[in-house]
Amino acid sequence: MDIGDSGELLRNLGFPLLNVHSSYAHHDFVTPGRRLLVIGPMGSGKTEFSARIWRDSTVALRKKGLAAALTTSGAVDRRKVFVVRASLDKARFPDYPEDALAYRGGFERCGDRIGSIKDSFQLETLMADNSEVGTWIIDEAAFFDERIAYLMADESRRRGVSFVCPSLVLNFRREIFNQTARLLLENATDVFPLTAYCEHEDCLKDSLYTYRYYSVDGKECPAFYFDPLIIIGGDRAKSDGKEPNYCTRCDEHHYLPGKEYSFFTLKPLGEMAARGNIAPLLAELNAIAGNIRESRLYASLYSRYVECEDPCPVQMNALLVPCIAERALVYLYAEQNLLSAEQLRYLIRELALDKEYLSRRLSDNRRPLEI
Ligand SMILES: [Zn+2]
Repeated sequence: MDIGDSGELLRNLGFPLLNVHSSYAHHDFVTPGRRLLVIGPMGSGKTEFSARIWRDSTVALRKKGLAAALTTSGAVDRRKVFVVRASLDKARFPDYPEDALAYRGGFERCGDRIGSIKDSFQLETLMADNSEVGTWIIDEAAFFDERIAYLMADESRRRGVSFVCPSLVLNFRREIFNQTARLLLENATDVFPLTAYCEHEDCLKDSLYTYRYYSVDGKECPAFYFDPLIIIGGDRAKSDGKEPNYCTRCDEHHYLPGKEYSFFTLKPLGEMAARGNIAPLLAELNAIAGNIRESRLYASLYSRYVECEDPCPVQMNALLVPCIAERALVYLYAEQNLLSAEQLRYLIRELALDKEYLSRRLSDNRRPLEI
């Protein structure tokens, strides 16, 4: 890597030729119109990165003269920072003050320079009401509608405003989180990748992936590939098998059972239902909900993780969580759009599924339904 001026300086001071990594530079409030994407799994310090920019701004704001002129474009001063959270995020840190930008291990209080929005239209209003603010930190920008990516690109080109977007880009399936995440990547001017140690107890590798798992009777149960894409919940460990836990895992320890099953079996069953033949899907879900060993899901996992050259029994724990049929239905209805509301209600009735679990997950995934 390019060790730059500080490497040169250390060498001149007589340091041996080591790997000199550039340390975190203080935030650049001078360059106009940047769109910084800060990516990394949970626990990699994305929010802490934002909190540092906030702290840097308190120093920069005390500067006068040229320093002040350099950070200004027209009416906009990039040293003035505003933090924007998703409204749904408030539940995550209930013990902190309303105006806190909270991260693991601390928080910054932002006074009236912190707000929450539901969508890109509300961001537009917030920006109009605070037209002097030149640096906008949009926490978890990928949770908003796609339009937000273009709104930020427009505002930064037109007025020199900078945006900092700490965001998940990959979901627990190791896929680009959603269309908004894709557009944020396309429209960014700078990307800061953050990593964390793999949290598997035997491992110290660098890790980029977010791993979703459930805890049932103290056992680690990896989430199925078809687990509901979005689950809105708290940040603390859960043990009822309905609320997920997250951690960061490397490639080897990121278990994702049921991916093959999702495409090889589940989705085709949903496609048959979409064409009017719902019986095969009903039969499979009936097995999953009633006697899971009779299901094609069980057979698929068994041949992949037990009866194979390189067994990985922890993957079988995925079968221990409750509401597996409900999860499969959320995937087919809310994500794949393969079932009608009427078909969904029919399956819920026939299989006596957990309505409370289903309505919560359907509204999490923006497909609320009276069931
Ligand atoms: Zn690992």
